[in-house]
Amino acid sequence: MKNILYVLPFAFLGLPAMAQDDAKLIEKAKKIHAKAFTLDTHADTPMRMVGKGFDISKDNTPASPTGMDSKIDFPRMKKGGLDGIFFAVYQGQGPRTPEANAKVQQMAMTILDSIHAQVGRYPGLAKVVTSPEEVPALEKAGKRSIFIGVENGYQIGNDITMLQKFYDRGVRYMTLCHSYNNDICDSSTDPKGAEYNGLSPFGEKVVAEMNRLGMIIDISHVSDSTVWDLIKRSKAPIVATHSDAWALCQHPRNLNDNLLKEIAKKGGVVQLNLLSSYIITAPANPERDAAVAEIRKKYTGTLSEEQTRAMRTEMRELNKKFPLPLATVKNAIDHLDHFVKIMGVDHVGIGGDLDGGGYLADCFDISQYENLTVEMVRRGYSEKDLRKIWSGNFFRVMKDVRKIGEKIRAEGALVVGN
Ligand SMILES: [Zn+2]
Repeated sequence: MKNILYVLPFAFLGLPAMAQDDAKLIEKAKKIHAKAFTLDTHADTPMRMVGKGFDISKDNTPASPTGMDSKIDFPRMKKGGLDGIFFAVYQGQGPRTPEANAKVQQMAMTILDSIHAQVGRYPGLAKVVTSPEEVPALEKAGKRSIFIGVENGYQIGNDITMLQKFYDRGVRYMTLCHSYNNDICDSSTDPKGAEYNGLSPFGEKVVAEMNRLGMIIDISHVSDSTVWDLIKRSKAPIVATHSDAWALCQHPRNLNDNLLKEIAKKGGVVQLNLLSSYIITAPANPERDAAVAEIRKKYTGTLSEEQTRAMRTEMRELNKKFPLPLATVKNAIDHLDHFVKIMGVDHVGIGGDLDGGGYLADCFDISQYENLTVEMVRRGYSEKDLRKIWSGNFFRVMKDVRKIGEKIRAEGALVVGN
């Protein structure tokens, strides 16, 4: 009783002051968020743009009549204060045969065309861009900057000239593989294990050609041995467009401290992924794992619009049947803090993996991105730090990789043949 009487007056005095401080902090964070150029380096929205039904200028929430169930659209980007985004041309790993390769190559071009067509419909709202120099004018005009990447090098098949075609259509990074090994390299999550212990001989040519073009090499999804090969072989900095820290969550997709240090030493960046199961370790659930594996097996390779819709419905049902505990913004920023501790504030950024499984309990879609800045301000990051994290670092790498490509081309390096 004595204790309570002693504590209470302070509690009453303290609370409003604390609430006031927090309100001030949130206001400060919102101002920084609005002023900085905010960039997300990885979203898997483009598959929805193929075919009819998706309109990026409209509400695409799960409850919307389009049934597209996307975490991204222009109105929500504006609400979340997100100025720029990399849309990924993504296709899952399928058979590595000439027929399948031809099909995925063709589909990749269709997805690319769909991005240009979708964004091109709204010149008053956004524009497809390829360089950091283009964004200030768009930011000033209140328009979104849309960059393009390719996720899964499977989409070039065995044809190295596809890289130039991608580049000419605006692609500025390529993630070398996805969940399984491909003709380029080993993946971190292929149940069959290593095929090359890193890059394949064809993969080495891909690296040389990407360096020559000035296309960024994305190491998200690749195996540790592939990253080590890239650290040795790439003439340009390498990036992880959507990855988290192994030290905090032991998922094979995550990056250990030794890799983080080398990526930073090479001038690269690692962009924080908001996908819950890379952030916190969920309790074992073999039933769920088996159900997920079943869906993955059922929907591999090039999917039709109907198949994609069916897959999304099945995933939603699965999530209802076997709900996972969701990570929070605090949990996610713990990973960012770790990156900063290991690599320094010049080597980190944000790549949310939205529409590819990325979302948090308190950052459910692109409209809630301000919450990330609030948490970073709470932890003491300055406005200068936040400008680097939100785009400055990634843009620096884009420019460096471009410059190295220009130099290689000026030295007269020939296109590597097949
Ligand atoms: Zn991914």
